Amino acid sequence: MKIICVGRNYLAHIKELGNTIPAEPVFFLKPETALLIRNRPFVYPEFSTDIHYEVELVLKIRKSGRKIDPKFAHNYYSEIGLGIDFTARDIQNKAKKAGLPWFTAKGFDHAAPVSQFLSKSTFPDVTDISFHLDLNGETVQRGNTSLMIYPFNEIIAQASRFVTLRNGDLIYTGTPAGVGPVKIGDTLEGYIEGEKLLKCNIISD
Ligand code: MG
Repeated sequence: MKIICVGRNYLAHIKELGNTIPAEPVFFLKPETALLIRNRPFVYPEFSTDIHYEVELVLKIRKSGRKIDPKFAHNYYSEIGLGIDFTARDIQNKAKKAGLPWFTAKGFDHAAPVSQFLSKSTFPDVTDISFHLDLNGETVQRGNTSLMIYPFNEIIAQASRFVTLRNGDLIYTGTPAGVGPVKIGDTLEGYIEGEKLLKCNIISD
C-alpha cells in the first residue's frame, strides 16, 4: 500500500507557512513504514529538532482505479479516519530552499499515525465534517472539510491521473491552520465531530 498526502489544501495553513496557493494539488508520498497505528507512542527522532504535528482527515481507498472522474470518486472510498502528518520542519525548510524533495522530512518511520476508521455512511455530509486536534488538552487545530481548496472527490480524481489507486491505500487530505512543534512528554489527541479517535504520546528514544 501507499500513503498519498496532499499539501496546501487549507487557505489559512498556506498563509501561516508563507506559501502560495497551488494551481493544482501538491502531492507527496509516505512509505508504508511511516504508519503508526493503534495509538502507539511516537518516538522523537534524533535527526530533527523541529517535529511538527499536522492533523488531517484520512481516506481509505476501497478499490483500484486510475483516471477517476470526480463524479465517481465517491465510490472509491468508504471509510474516513484521522491522522497526523508528522513533519520534520527543519529538514523540510532546508529542502524547500534548495528545491529538493520532502522525502526525509515527511516519510520517516512513524511519520503517519492513523486512527481507526469510521464508515463514510456515518457522516450526513462529507463536505461538512469537523475535526480538531488537542495538544496537552488544549485545542491547537480546527478544521472542516468545507474549507478545503480541493475536496475529497477532486483529490481522488487528481491523484489518480498520475498513480493507480489501490484497495487499502490511504490519502491524507491536508491540514488546517495551527500546526506547531511537539516535544517529548506531549500528548496529541484528535477528534472527528467531537469523537476522540486518535491519541499519540511523544516519547524519547
Ligand atoms: Mg500535511
